[in-house]
Amino acid sequence: MPNKEMLLIPGPTPVVDEIYEALSRETMSHTDMRFAGIFSEALAQTRKMFNTDGEVFVIAGSGTLAMEMALANTVARGEKLLIVSHGYFGDRFIGVAKALGIEAEVLAAEWGKQIEPSQIEEKLQQGGYKAVTVTHADTSTGVAANLDKVVPTVKKYGALFILDGVCASGGLEEDMGKAYGTDDYKIDVVLTASQKAIGVPPGLAIVAFGPKALESRAKMDGVNSYYMDINNWSPVMKEPQKYFATHPINMIYGYAEAMKIIAAEGTAARYRRHAAIGKAIRAAVRSMGMNIFAAEEVAAPTLSCILYPEGVNDAEFRAVLAKKGLIVAGLLASLAGKGFRLGHMGNTTNDIFCKALEIIGETLGEMGFPVDSAKAVQVFKDVFTENNK
Ligand SMILES: *Cc1c(COP(=O)(O)O)cnc(C)c1O
Repeated sequence: MPNKEMLLIPGPTPVVDEIYEALSRETMSHTDMRFAGIFSEALAQTRKMFNTDGEVFVIAGSGTLAMEMALANTVARGEKLLIVSHGYFGDRFIGVAKALGIEAEVLAAEWGKQIEPSQIEEKLQQGGYKAVTVTHADTSTGVAANLDKVVPTVKKYGALFILDGVCASGGLEEDMGKAYGTDDYKIDVVLTASQKAIGVPPGLAIVAFGPKALESRAKMDGVNSYYMDINNWSPVMKEPQKYFATHPINMIYGYAEAMKIIAAEGTAARYRRHAAIGKAIRAAVRSMGMNIFAAEEVAAPTLSCILYPEGVNDAEFRAVLAKKGLIVAGLLASLAGKGFRLGHMGNTTNDIFCKALEIIGETLGEMGFPVDSAKAVQVFKDVFTENNK
């Protein structure tokens, strides 16, 4: 089932044929041992991707459910949470915490900027924080967190480190086994969803809990949810033929295929490819006289917020792109109308980006902003090659 459009938004991302084929396989019973085998393999690959000796949970839901599941199982009602926000999705944890009765404090970065470790430290010094949430790549600003700086800062104060990997997992390294400086300074939870850098249609919430996070759940009296309680899911994730709630069978087929694709590419190669694509896209866009909202040092490898030259009509521009088969997303909140978001993650080939750059350049030209799109494509290719070694 070849894709007819180029879906270059920050998720869902283009779905490759192998995954479409897997999704359309005959539905089995959720207690069938053959299905259990497929699911177990996918879970093992997920543990490998996150390099964790903890537990991973893959259930029906979107990224927002994964955010809620991560908090519900680690921070009890009335306990304190620090939210490190680099934009719209960072802020989403405020609502999630509120619904769960968690006492949340927010460190909100000016849009386009990162929160400095010193700001986090100042908050954590006040004491009593059970956990800190950090958004790996915020989809509203195109800003990525610097884990090398932020993880040790948080862990120094003993709080759990919860990473929102929606828009990052499968495209950026999220290594839960990695010690950030000191032996036990590790990422405790990574939560994500199927439809971004993993490249499966929307429908799955994925959460990995490391040993410290599991210990934290074990000490809690209960969880403010039945469906999201990992104690209900834990036996099922160990033996997927067991029943708690019916698995999204065909989504798991698709997910298992995606995990095979990631393993075959190799995580190191995949992360390098994403970093190179990000650099190449940003350089190509700049060569067309447009700016990227996030500064180069903090820009996410998986998506870009691209600012128009003065005078481009956003709705018209994106409508023309859509007619040409290129789907991009609008900017959010105070940035709305000023540019567009381009997703560049998942199971993509570089041809799609070259084509997209051509269409973007051609359309700008038609709207009275002549640019050299052939040069932009060449810049993309050169910068990619230079960085993908
Ligand atoms: C997309 C996204 C979410 C929300 O995921 P849904 O699947 O839409 O619920 C959360 N966090 C980040 C960083 C995202 O990019």
